[in-house]
Amino acid sequence: MFWLLTICLLAAPAAYAGKAHTHGVAQLKLSVEAAQLNLAFELPLDTLVGFERAPRTPAETEAARVALARLREATALVKPDAAAKCRLLGSQVQAQVLEGTAKPGTERPAEPQHADASVSLTFECEQIAQLGSVELALFDSFRRLERVEAEMVTPKGQGKATVRRAAKNLRLPR
Ligand SMILES: [Zn+2]
Repeated sequence: MFWLLTICLLAAPAAYAGKAHTHGVAQLKLSVEAAQLNLAFELPLDTLVGFERAPRTPAETEAARVALARLREATALVKPDAAAKCRLLGSQVQAQVLEGTAKPGTERPAEPQHADASVSLTFECEQIAQLGSVELALFDSFRRLERVEAEMVTPKGQGKATVRRAAKNLRLPR
């Protein structure tokens, strides 16, 4: 029963694909477990490229290519405290709309829909106790991004924070 519940909770985010979001606002879930730092972002496509459907023009195709390249480059998104000596273990990007994997001809433009990209990153940090903040470099990568709403769970506590472009460091609970 416990496992069934756990599986349902883990599966839940996928069920919300296409839900309304606020343009310019990214969601971040951050957790620290043992020596690992995990970050999971949900970003409105509008914030990344200015549209939320498959690219239609050469300019949109180029914008999608650039956005995907940045999403796949961990240092274009976050920079954990250097003192914590973190190295990237793995990352995963999901942005099927930008990748053009949606079949052409199946589009229903009459009904505007929202679409997100999701990115998850896992770091292993030699000095995890020194991890006081994470610089959200994605503000530099995506000029339409206005703020990041973060939820954090670390051994030192839980917290929520809103990070804006002017001060793009996310402080961890201490
Ligand atoms: Zn949207």
